[in-house]
Amino acid sequence: MALNDKNYDYLIVGAGPYGSIFAYEAAKRGKRSLIVEKRPHIGGNMYTHTEHGITVHDFGAHIFHTDNKEVWDYIRQFADFNGYQNQVVANYKGSLYNLPFNMNTFYEMWGTKTPDEAKAKIDEQKAEAVAAMDGKAPRNLEEQAISLIGTEIYEKLIKGYTEKQWGRKATDLPAFIIKRLPVRFIYDNNYFNHRYQGIPVGGYTQIFERLILDNDLIDVQVNTDFFAHRDEYLAEFPRIIYTGMIDQFFDYKFGELEYRSLRFETETVDSDNYQGNAVINYTDAETPYTRVMEWRHFDGLADEGKSVITREYPQAWDRTKEAYYPVNDDKNMAMYKQYAKAAREEHSEVLFGGRLGQYRYFDMDQVINAVFNDLRHEFDLPAEFNFAHDEVK
Ligand code: FAD
Ligand code: UDP
Repeated sequence: MALNDKNYDYLIVGAGPYGSIFAYEAAKRGKRSLIVEKRPHIGGNMYTHTEHGITVHDFGAHIFHTDNKEVWDYIRQFADFNGYQNQVVANYKGSLYNLPFNMNTFYEMWGTKTPDEAKAKIDEQKAEAVAAMDGKAPRNLEEQAISLIGTEIYEKLIKGYTEKQWGRKATDLPAFIIKRLPVRFIYDNNYFNHRYQGIPVGGYTQIFERLILDNDLIDVQVNTDFFAHRDEYLAEFPRIIYTGMIDQFFDYKFGELEYRSLRFETETVDSDNYQGNAVINYTDAETPYTRVMEWRHFDGLADEGKSVITREYPQAWDRTKEAYYPVNDDKNMAMYKQYAKAAREEHSEVLFGGRLGQYRYFDMDQVINAVFNDLRHEFDLPAEFNFAHDEVK
């Protein structure tokens, strides 16, 4: 039987945010899509489910944070957001420190009380490393971290966590990764610097139900891997939106891009408050997990006496595992460029989108901004077109 029996305009591979928003906006413009998703559910890595009244994020803690007002207004059409602000605690060999790096952390580490005292301590610690850099920009994560917050915080709160998270030395990782975390000389434990932050009350899955279920122009097939029928899909669909791994699409012909995978271990405990915080990071090298989430603290809606916790273990990626993080170092970026060129030259009918399709360490808001830009192009919309205030029905 033909796979495109309904004359779909689009085949969309992946029901995560990139693919789902693409389908929703295409449907608004009268276009019909078939979404194929290899997992048994929609939502991609944003998928959540509820147990004991608690919203559990199946693929690690997802906190929405952005400075992009269009994205923030857009996503709130599909759910009510709470005022959750992420404040992470680090446990280094039994001692606790506030994250991200701020006046509380500096006080806990050194007893410094003023910004000048903390800056003097950092300057003293980083002097040797900065001198060795000889006026050059940091070449790797270790140099970047030490030049931001000195050697002791690097050793206790960054090195062990980073090396187990990525499975390689901090000197073999790009500097930009550590710049995700703020460094600030005020007493402020907010993990993010963005103006807007929160979590949908009741979880993220409802957003995807509203985007792609109950829409006459969108059909969704879960438990369906694009690669089971790659050639037929390519032959039958005029346009394909692909949000899987770009190297897999090309059967790894330039080699495997590197990814980092994760394993999640979730358990229900008889407690109203197991660890006293939503996220605790374990920053030593020996503890095999990087962080422990206690889900009831994200939205405060839990049943009495029950708590669900998840330990997040980094692990090597291979073709049998889920790819969660691209490893955007020079070697992989050079290979990615070969794939991106092949995509342009050999498959102009396919749009590669999202974290895996574009091999970018995108957060949710960045994925949404990226799909907006691609939609403007796809539907010939002006650059100033605002998806949050779109009146097209
Ligand atoms: P995904 O959400 O990964 O969706 C892609 C979908 O495509 C998946 O469902 C996959 O199964 C499917 N697929 C792939 N290949 C195929 C195939 N061959 N056939 C059929 N289907 C296929 N972002 C934030 O903004 N804040 C956070 O706090 C945050 N925390 C995170 C924590 C963790 C542990 C991780 C891993 C990510 C986190 N993110 C966070 C990032 C966020 O998950 C991504 O930005 C977002 O999910 C990417 O959307 P996407 O549509 O590109 O991909
Ligand atoms: N990081 C760290 N110590 C921590 C938390 C983060 O060294 O306690 C580093 C680590 O290299 C990590 C990066 O900062 O990969 C970005 O952290 P973030 O929490 O943004 O990672 P994500 O939530 O995307 O896994």
